[in-house]
Amino acid sequence: MNGLAPRKAPPYTPEVARETAHLYARVAAVVPEFEWPAYAPYIHAINTLKKARNAIILGHNYMTPEIFNCVSDYTGDSLALARQATTTDAKVIVQAGVHFMAETSKILCPDKTVLIPDTRAGCSLAESITGRDVRLLKQKYPGVPVVSYVNTSAEVKAESDMCCTSSNAVQVVESLGTDRVIFLPDEYLAKNVATMTDVEIIAWHGRCEVHERFTVEDIEALRDAHPGLVVLAHPECSPEVMAVADFAGSTADMSDYVAEHHPAKVVLVTECSMSDNVAVENPGVDFIRPCNLCPHMKRITLANILHSLETMTVKVEIEPAIAARARLAIERMLALPKVKSAGPKYRVKQPPAHVTLAVA
Ligand code: SF4
Repeated sequence: MNGLAPRKAPPYTPEVARETAHLYARVAAVVPEFEWPAYAPYIHAINTLKKARNAIILGHNYMTPEIFNCVSDYTGDSLALARQATTTDAKVIVQAGVHFMAETSKILCPDKTVLIPDTRAGCSLAESITGRDVRLLKQKYPGVPVVSYVNTSAEVKAESDMCCTSSNAVQVVESLGTDRVIFLPDEYLAKNVATMTDVEIIAWHGRCEVHERFTVEDIEALRDAHPGLVVLAHPECSPEVMAVADFAGSTADMSDYVAEHHPAKVVLVTECSMSDNVAVENPGVDFIRPCNLCPHMKRITLANILHSLETMTVKVEIEPAIAARARLAIERMLALPKVKSAGPKYRVKQPPAHVTLAVA
């Protein structure tokens, strides 16, 4: 069961048009007017039903603009959404994101109902490693702590000492106070973290299928075509791409950068929808949009969010013993103080050092 079901679209009535007009005004710059009659009935139905269900929708930065801006109660990167999950009074959480994010919400909120609108919304990073792989690595490197990116399954988190996101990866690695850390599963993030710390990093060979596709040649071609372009890159990109960026950081860091610096022309080297969502908040900025879609994030649609709320499916369930161990790894991360970077999060010009690529 994946949560999808064919359904007849709700009608676009004068009442729907009237009651969603303020939401269209919000996204008018990124959603063509002729598309709105297809979205508005779902948006109206979702916003009505979520109140009746005492539900909230957590929308990741990579959701399409009509989901991100028109039905999500809280938005942000993985870290922000995990923090939000711990503070809501709602009984139901609908995760407008991928499966590991829904698992994270369930781990942190075991008494709430957590719904994922499509169970096929996976992640190439989360699928690159299993709990068994981590156990083998721990045998191979006894005593070396394990840091897992949040883009991992509950089983992998349960085998880890602490989780991290791209916002806080360096802080997490250094918080452990050891001279070596096993850092899973993103090879590129591991290499980029290694440019920021003297801690030796033992990495895994996972890759984000969206960010690994960006190349130095792509960036150079964009700079040639758009003089004065400011390039912001996500640290799931290769170190070579990071080295030719002007700034590198998580989706939250990129969003903050645009809000603070208001560059005339910018490219966000990350998933497509991010530019649309940051553009809504920054009307004067010209976004150049090279488009690498995440097929997993795009599994989440208004239609399956509505279906999820109507049928209260698909519920995310995690074996309690695994959830308890995974919770510890996430809570250790959440207990770290929030840090705000004053400059680039990653030393984008420095070649990575102290990295060993592990084989379990
Ligand atoms: S963008 Fe990359 S890391 Fe994020 S869900 Fe898609 S495959 Fe996973």
